[in-house]
Amino acid sequence: MTTNSIATGNLFILAAPSGAGKSSLIRALLERHSHDSMQVSVSCTTRAPRPGEVDGEHYHFLSEAEFKEKIANDEFYEWAHVFGNYYGTSRVYIEQTLAEGIDVFLDIDWQGARQVREAHPHAQSIFIIPPSLEILEQRLRGRGQDSDEVIRGRMAKAQAELSHYHEFDYLLVNDKFAQTLAQLEHIVFAQRLKVGLQQVRHAAKLKDLLANGG
Ligand code: GDP
Ligand code: ADP
Ligand code: 5GP
Repeated sequence: MTTNSIATGNLFILAAPSGAGKSSLIRALLERHSHDSMQVSVSCTTRAPRPGEVDGEHYHFLSEAEFKEKIANDEFYEWAHVFGNYYGTSRVYIEQTLAEGIDVFLDIDWQGARQVREAHPHAQSIFIIPPSLEILEQRLRGRGQDSDEVIRGRMAKAQAELSHYHEFDYLLVNDKFAQTLAQLEHIVFAQRLKVGLQQVRHAAKLKDLLANGG
């Protein structure tokens, strides 16, 4: 049994302008915790793989026709058109993993975040901002995986993404990586202590405490 072995896992949404550090933060958090307590949802996308990206690990890479067939079959929990490509989250994966009591992280854009909040009002949403636009551009360039044209396109859309920060529950400034990682971990741990989940986990103890009270 893990400490999170309860019928409903928590759903966490991370969104940010491209390059702010969501994928790195989720990866680092998952490295510190077991696979049966938290996982990241592997999205489907029509974007071409970047050098080093592995199908089924970073994304499920699909053709546009395959993606549209999944939309028609209602296989996505949410999907959106981002930077000229389609991205979507598998419904079956989310439902099964949460039902196993495992916390799930979604690295998705603000349009997807809106859809998830509607479907799952208990989802905790976290918005990550960079210290400045200059640093954001340095990180996109430093990542060394996108062409100049793609980076220009993502920088042009950064402020549009940033303008949605107020739709989220938490706002983290990703300046010092270790500090942001600790803040993200605090959010996850605090969520696991919410009374709605604790009363299920400790039902017998609460019953006992209340029964012998007076
Ligand atoms: P709020 O800010 O107090 O409304 O907090 P939440 O929206 O996170 O959750 C309200 C309560 O319902 C919390 O105590 C949750 O633990 C609990 N809860 C019930 N079902 C679920 C679920 O499916 N997922 C999560 N994360 N919390 C749930
Ligand atoms: P996103 O998933 O939001 O597009 P990434 O996680 O790929 O962003 O991060 C973009 C780049 O910035 C990566 O090269 C990553 O190593 C770097 N990075 C992330 N967070 C920080 C930080 N706090 N300080 C310095 N570099 C960072
Ligand atoms: P990238 O191409 O850099 O991996 O991702 C580009 C953008 O698409 C990021 O904002 C990322 O969060 C978003 N994204 C990735 N997967 C999904 C998904 O399944 N759904 C939605 N809505 N957005 C996604």
